[in-house]
Amino acid sequence: MNLLIQDAGRYYREHFGEPNIIVRSPGRINLIGEHTDYNDGFALPASIDNAVYVSIGARTDDQIHLFSVDYKEFYKGNTATIEISLQSWANYILAIVDVLQKAGYNCGGFNAVVRGDIPIGAGLSSSAAVECATIFALNELFGFKLDRMTMVKMAQQAENEFIGVRCGIMDQFASMFGKPDQVIELDCRSLDYTYFPFESAEYELLLINSRVKHSLADSEYNLRRLDCEAGVAHLQRFHPNIKSLRDATPEIVKQELHLLDKKIVQRCLYVVEEIARVQEACEDLKRGDFISFGKKMFITHKGLSELYNVSCPELDFLVNAAAAHKDVIGARMMGGGFGGCTLNLVKKEALAEFIDRVSETYLETYGVLPGAYPVTIEGGTAVVGPAK
Ligand code: ADP
Ligand code: MG
Repeated sequence: MNLLIQDAGRYYREHFGEPNIIVRSPGRINLIGEHTDYNDGFALPASIDNAVYVSIGARTDDQIHLFSVDYKEFYKGNTATIEISLQSWANYILAIVDVLQKAGYNCGGFNAVVRGDIPIGAGLSSSAAVECATIFALNELFGFKLDRMTMVKMAQQAENEFIGVRCGIMDQFASMFGKPDQVIELDCRSLDYTYFPFESAEYELLLINSRVKHSLADSEYNLRRLDCEAGVAHLQRFHPNIKSLRDATPEIVKQELHLLDKKIVQRCLYVVEEIARVQEACEDLKRGDFISFGKKMFITHKGLSELYNVSCPELDFLVNAAAAHKDVIGARMMGGGFGGCTLNLVKKEALAEFIDRVSETYLETYGVLPGAYPVTIEGGTAVVGPAK
């Protein structure tokens, strides 16, 4: 059995007795469709093998007792006073209790143990995984009968309000709705979604962690959102039907935005092209055409780097290294930008050699060894225990 499930159960038994339930919720990747969510566009996420496991059990009082295996820390509080804790990991669980209670779902006291192996802050949404595992477990434990989409929205709200991170809905959605060997085309406007097969005997998905986290990321993210809004406001003067960049085309952007700042035009052009690219990429997957899919990943990267300006030298270096390797058929930076991981589509037999080569040249250039994690696409949030 998976060692992490075992840990979640073992530490629970050690500290609290017998858990009622153990829930797994995975991290996520996004294959294509970056910075499209807040423009009402499409994204193409998938849930991965790295995950967070929460074992949980009801108490007879109103106390909340938590233990993090990874941080080796306890948290103690109660359901009556949910406040931000100095133990940051506990906040993601408290955020869920808070959002549930504000919606009228009163949690009783409970114990929980958290264990996970999603690299933190690498753009794989470990925070969403903690939130989704927690809300799923509490929903089961207290019989709230919430459906998955409601839990996704509440988990996003928890991150937005209690944690104070302005994330879109994709992270929680992908963690909750993932299926093995399938990617999910998510319409971020209607929240409609469609599964597409992503199964290949020939290629493997590989994340390479640049280990860079620029302080720019948050402020620049907000600036990009403002640029997109400025573009939409201008387009609306001529096309009242355009409510977001989702409603525009590259032609309209080129025609109507020539009066605006060149940067805003470039930003809008990237977004409009990227939204169309997700839909074309899904057609590639229907045909099993990974070569064509991979090419689109490179084009996305070029757009993110040159038009949207959210890459950084380290990410460009990693994508260039991928492009120069004959057995890497696609690569791009993933996530908000200015650091984090690149996602690579690599021929299976070349995986080890590519990791060695790129690690060596990256170390020579930047003085740090990048992380390299092959990932597989696994199912979304589910009950996985208890098992002894
Ligand atoms: P990410 O991009 O991985 O979501 P965030 O900064 O949004 O990065 O969230 C990371 C936070 O989520 C961690 O600092 C921690 O508080 C919490 N977290 C992630 N994984 C675990 C874990 N295995 N156990 C406890 N808390 C975790
Ligand atoms: Mg996060």
